[in-house]
Amino acid sequence: MKKRWKCSLCGQIFEGETPPVPCPVCGAGAEAFTLLEEEPAATKPSGRWKCTVCGQIFEGENPPVPCPVCGAGVEAFVPVAEDGTVAGASDRRFVLIGGGAAALSAAQEIRRRDRTARITMICGEGIIPYNRPGLSDFVAGEADFEALAVKPFGWYEENKIRLICDAQAVSVDPEKRCVRLSDGRGIPYDRLLLATGANAFCPVQGTEGAVPVRVLRRFADAMELVEAAGPGSRVLVVGGGILGVEAALGLHARGVTVEMVELGARLVGPQADDEGAARLRAALEQEGIRVQTGCSVAQVTPTGATLSSGEEIAADLVLVSAGIRSELTLARQLGLKIDRGIQVDAWMQTSDPDICAAGDCAEFDGRVAGLWNAALEMGTVAGATMCGAKGAAYRQPVPATALSMEHFTLFSAGRLSGEGLREVVRQEGERYRKLLFDGGRLVGLVAVGPFEGAAAAIAAIDRGAGEEETAALLG
Ligand SMILES: Cc1cc2nc3c(=O)[nH]c(=O)nc-3n(C[C@H](O)[C@H](O)[C@H](O)COP(=O)(O)OP(=O)(O)OC[C@H]3O[C@@H](n4cnc5c(N)ncnc54)[C@H](O)[C@@H]3O)c2cc1C
Repeated sequence: MKKRWKCSLCGQIFEGETPPVPCPVCGAGAEAFTLLEEEPAATKPSGRWKCTVCGQIFEGENPPVPCPVCGAGVEAFVPVAEDGTVAGASDRRFVLIGGGAAALSAAQEIRRRDRTARITMICGEGIIPYNRPGLSDFVAGEADFEALAVKPFGWYEENKIRLICDAQAVSVDPEKRCVRLSDGRGIPYDRLLLATGANAFCPVQGTEGAVPVRVLRRFADAMELVEAAGPGSRVLVVGGGILGVEAALGLHARGVTVEMVELGARLVGPQADDEGAARLRAALEQEGIRVQTGCSVAQVTPTGATLSSGEEIAADLVLVSAGIRSELTLARQLGLKIDRGIQVDAWMQTSDPDICAAGDCAEFDGRVAGLWNAALEMGTVAGATMCGAKGAAYRQPVPATALSMEHFTLFSAGRLSGEGLREVVRQEGERYRKLLFDGGRLVGLVAVGPFEGAAAAIAAIDRGAGEEETAALLG
């Protein structure tokens, strides 16, 4: 096979035994050339698959179906091509605070760009990075921790990524460029990422003598929930967003009697339209999960809870799923600009350009995305920025949701409400489709019932496809 050389100044790639010096494109000398080891993968399948619903990338000959992160089907997967980035080498020390999707994707991007840099991830939960959306499958008994781990333990060794799982970061000294850990160790850095994620927001107070109130955010929460809510027990789920629904289904699958209350007028807020939410509610009720909307918990009691409507609900445990709050302790200590999250620009730089932030702790364009695919994307952008390659700016991925029950599936993507949207609806029995257009461009879609167009729908929304090109999505 011919050798291939890349000029690092102009990016041009040449074939030949030796690099053409000076570079015929930009005139750079021999030192600008690097030998490419592989053909540019933009033209070659890489054995990597991206789930277009959650953004997770998997390696293997075939995509793992259903997606282990979000449960999407085979139609959501697209092959990933490498972009031909050439890895450099340095002895820089990258410290990533957090052990979630954002930190892991940043670590992967740094390693892709720098073969020898020292990468340390501080994973505050005491365990290696795992698939957080899969926690409801763990609760359901459908996945063990091994199945949840995003990468097996050996992968970190192979990629020379040091994991610190037995301590948390408690402070950062930006002058000395050192992170202090809860056990007193100091971890010096040249580049720092805050990927501290978020905590569950819990507006329901537990009181002494009342049944326990729990949240589901961390692996430890899932373990506690499994222990406290065995088959035959009764759980009241407070909050009918997609996470609440998934948790309710997970508990139901383990033989728990589940009731659900949602303050809003219907389930899953912006992730469905009225019709999709109504069909979801009917499907849950058919499974035996009673749902009440337009009410909340007034008080947790020794026998369950009293609702705002005055109704008493018998329960052994109350599980609250009411949104998230970014984890900002370190960002506050560092005096970074904060609103709902740590404010970042399109390259994930905070108000201190030497510090990047990504994922659920970060706020971009006035919003904390709170989504797995956004955390992955932000982490990748942050990794590139930290390597000094201020490349492609962050673009919020199209938000997408896939919910799958035995006899019911809901898929939604993009924007489902707003002024002046044109709606095109098709209904045939259990199949329901709605396409939403803004100025003739597709901006959102809801699909109830088997749907094979997930990847196509996300791509069409991303590029703002017109009505004619998207007609097939109604099928
Ligand atoms: C049950 C559940 C289901 C979900 N389902 C979906 C879904 O279907 N689709 C979707 O898009 N999203 C879903 N999400 C949201 C998604 O999981 C998050 O958006 C994503 O995990 C955010 O990744 P992150 O890396 O920013 O933060 P996190 O995953 O929160 O990771 C941050 C990590 O940093 C650690 N940390 C914090 N502070 C410190 C410190 N000082 N020192 C050391 N470590 C620290 C935390 O302990 C945590 O482990 C779900 C979330 C939950 C809880």
